[in-house]
Amino acid sequence: YSLDNNLISVLTNLGISHLALENVNSAEDYLTEARERASKSGNEIQKVLIGYNLGLVNLKKGNLTEAQIFFETTLEQSREHEFGEGIFHNSIGMGDLYKHQRRYDEAVAWYHEALEESFNMNADHFTGQALEKLYLVNRDAGRHLDALEALEVLRAHTENIRSIEREQARAEYEARLESRRQEQENRILIARQSEQEARLQLQKAMGIGVLVLLSFVLGITIFLYRNVRFRGRLNTFLRERNLEISSKNKELDHLNNIKNKMFAVVAHDLRGPLSSLQSLLYLLREHDLSKEDLDEITNSLERSLHDNATTMENLLAWAKSQMNGIVVNYRIFKLIAAVEAVYSQVKFQAEQKKVNIQIDVDSELKVYADYDMMKLVLRNLVSNAVKFTDEDDKITIRATSDSEKTTISVEDTGIGIKHNDQEKIFGDDHFSNAGTKNEQGSGLGLALCKEFVEKHEGEIWFQSEHNKGTTFIFSLPVHKETSLPEDKKDIRNSKDKRQAKPVAIPG
Ligand code: ADP
Repeated sequence: YSLDNNLISVLTNLGISHLALENVNSAEDYLTEARERASKSGNEIQKVLIGYNLGLVNLKKGNLTEAQIFFETTLEQSREHEFGEGIFHNSIGMGDLYKHQRRYDEAVAWYHEALEESFNMNADHFTGQALEKLYLVNRDAGRHLDALEALEVLRAHTENIRSIEREQARAEYEARLESRRQEQENRILIARQSEQEARLQLQKAMGIGVLVLLSFVLGITIFLYRNVRFRGRLNTFLRERNLEISSKNKELDHLNNIKNKMFAVVAHDLRGPLSSLQSLLYLLREHDLSKEDLDEITNSLERSLHDNATTMENLLAWAKSQMNGIVVNYRIFKLIAAVEAVYSQVKFQAEQKKVNIQIDVDSELKVYADYDMMKLVLRNLVSNAVKFTDEDDKITIRATSDSEKTTISVEDTGIGIKHNDQEKIFGDDHFSNAGTKNEQGSGLGLALCKEFVEKHEGEIWFQSEHNKGTTFIFSLPVHKETSLPEDKKDIRNSKDKRQAKPVAIPG
């Protein structure tokens, strides 16, 4: 079928070409064959085309009747299938046919028909063709006015077409220009965009670079800061350690001194009496001793033991005060209690030496102090007094008090302290002499007394004259709760009318 159709088209085209070359017969042959084939299998358009061209062939040959039949048949077909071109061409063909016969009215009518169809199709080219036909037919008919009119319409039409074409061309040109401009703009935009992108890329890269640099700097800063801080902390730590170590060292030095002192005391002051004790025991065991000898030996033994005990007590108190510092356990107590306790400790020793001890202390007098420390101070002072006195000497323990302080003194009529030695008392070197019965000491006693009294915010001092006697005096601040009622104040202050209630203990 399609092969047939192609053949019909080829035959039709050959016919049309031969007609154009004025080979009318050949054209007729091809077109006739095409018509025969088309009548069997061709489509309507092909049939219309073939019919019209056969009409033209017959018109050229002068076969007017045949030509008319072809044009009319084909026109009919075209109208049936609403082929505008078919209607137009066949109407022109009919016009030509009538013009050929000089039947101008009919010709004009057909050309008008064609013109009408061209309008219907809105085909300017066909309109121009129809108008030209109208002009020529009117001219040939000698209808000059009509011819002129047709010519003018044609001109106007042509002009219109041209202007439309020009307009179109201009529009096309402008469109082209516009599109070129657009293209240009696009290109610029693209270029700008890529430039922008490149710039962004660069900025990004720079940002990343800066970021990396910043983190690096930050890292280094943190590292350095930490390092410095660490070093600072290390230095502080080391400094503190050094301080700690040097204070530990001082402490160790101090403890070492205490240890040395204790060794010295133990080696000298305690060993001496102990070895004499040993010798006495040896004498006791190996020899038959008389009653007198035995008395003397046991007395000596007792003194030795007493000295040892005192020294030991002092040594321990001193070592304790050195190592722990002293804590004063204040309480209110009657001074006489401490005095009597000390008296009972030294009584035997005093009796041995035939030394009289007098106590001149108001039995109601209260002090605010550490009882044990007071006892130690008093015992040292009294036992020193016993130590440095001899037969028929006298010791007096006194206490007086005013609103501010209580003053306690231990007076003896003993050997006194040589002028040169006086400045060594309370010195750092623990000055010590043997007693009148060769009693040994450690030189710790007065140092302890001074320390303990000063801990109580009191003072200690002495008066002494060689071969006449010595008085050691210390004072304690009065605490308000120890104050006596107003009416008893005179008793308390009574240095002159003293011993309102003395406790005298005969030697
Ligand atoms: P110790 O009595 O153990 O030697 P102290 O510190 O108590 O140590 O006394 C130091 C020294 O002061 C004594 O050795 C002595 O020379 C002197 N001394 C202390 N009290 C008296 C006193 N009442 N009379 C004379 N000398 C004293």
